[in-house]
Amino acid sequence: MHSLPDSSDARSARSLIARDRGLLWHPYAPLDGDAPYAVLHAEGTRLTLGAADGTTFAAVDAMSSWWSAIHGYRHPRLDRALLEQAGRFSHVMFGGLTHEPAVRLAEQLVAMTPDGLDHVFFADSGSVSVEVALKLAVQYQRGCGRPGRTQFLALRGGYHGDTFAAMSVCDPVDGMHAAFPSLIAEQRFLPRPPAARLVDGELVADPAEVAAWVETLTASVARHADELAAIVVEPVLQGAGGMHVYAPEALAAARRVADNHGLLLIVDEIATGFGRTGRLFAAEWAGVVPDIMCVGKALTGGYLTLAAMLCSARVARVITDSPLRALLHGPTFMANPLACSVASASLELLAESGWRERVGRIERGLEAALAPARAVAGVREVRVLGAVGVVELSGPVDVAAVTRAALDHGVWVRPFRNLVYTMPPYISSAEDVAVIGAGICAAVARVHG
Ligand SMILES: *Cc1c(COP(=O)(O)O)cnc(C)c1O
Repeated sequence: MHSLPDSSDARSARSLIARDRGLLWHPYAPLDGDAPYAVLHAEGTRLTLGAADGTTFAAVDAMSSWWSAIHGYRHPRLDRALLEQAGRFSHVMFGGLTHEPAVRLAEQLVAMTPDGLDHVFFADSGSVSVEVALKLAVQYQRGCGRPGRTQFLALRGGYHGDTFAAMSVCDPVDGMHAAFPSLIAEQRFLPRPPAARLVDGELVADPAEVAAWVETLTASVARHADELAAIVVEPVLQGAGGMHVYAPEALAAARRVADNHGLLLIVDEIATGFGRTGRLFAAEWAGVVPDIMCVGKALTGGYLTLAAMLCSARVARVITDSPLRALLHGPTFMANPLACSVASASLELLAESGWRERVGRIERGLEAALAPARAVAGVREVRVLGAVGVVELSGPVDVAAVTRAALDHGVWVRPFRNLVYTMPPYISSAEDVAVIGAGICAAVARVHG
């Protein structure tokens, strides 16, 4: 937006990018891939970025740093929570010790998640919380006298993280299975559940498609129940596997079928949790209470890496009554006090902030602002759910070109595959949302129109 070449900001961005290149790996990127942008400043919904060519940009953040920075950058309450805890102690081991930040945060999570999720395991990233959830399910089945049940039923198009067990339940084609042939456990997969769209605040799908999908689910579980420990899903919105919004009836059916066959239901709310889809947790779209839930990403308001796995008292009791008695996991930085403190403050802020109204306003704003993209030649579909807006192209996005074009319109986006998408911070104003929508439409039209 604002071009300030040759300012000291521009010079420091250029030199930072030069030092980064060839030194640092970035997510899913070659060492000599497209140059990153340097962050010069971040506050509220604004990022000031510098490019390798010396251009600087003042951009509205459309990404919440991958679903996490829901209250924006440098929120005074979160900054204060972090500093106050740093003044007490930044970290202590969790083996044999406990502390106020962990206990308080666990109490908050149990109170706000669906009734019945009563126990909390803190992990240091979303992927690790998924690993812990999978371990728990296997330990549970063994505790129930069913040691043969070690496989998982997952959804095509799913994404659950980058560690090995988490990768094994990601989409087997789009996931990274082919790169690590014999190392990734073989799981069972169901087709993506039928697409749903928002109509008057409800998610609506084709009933015939839903019935057919439920039949596939039922048949698959009936056939393989003796090998299956749990069904693992992202509820209603599949994120990094393609931003697919699906029928809540599919999730409700997974709950029923799991119950009928002694499987656990693991719901991965790492992306969808804390209001993002318009419900506090996306499983609420289906009125479903899982046995195990993973949360992460927005948990700390985007400040520090922390995730949590919650489970029901019934599942926990089986572990406690088993010969091992313990859940077999224990990271060094488990329940890090800085992360727990800032997460507590972030959840308080969420509760006080009127998130439901804010997410609703963002949803309506994105509907209006992204609608013009439907007229662009290369666009296949535009969809919005809660504070998530997706422009799906008919082919792969030119990531570098769309990113740059959006920055020229004052918006930071990070497209992937055939998707240009946004999940703005909840503090975004109506004007921020309008700028994001207009920037995405203009960038897509310029590069793919
Ligand atoms: C991001 C994500 C993960 C992995 O979390 P990390 O903190 O990146 O390890 C797992 N599941 C879902 C649904 C996610 O969106």
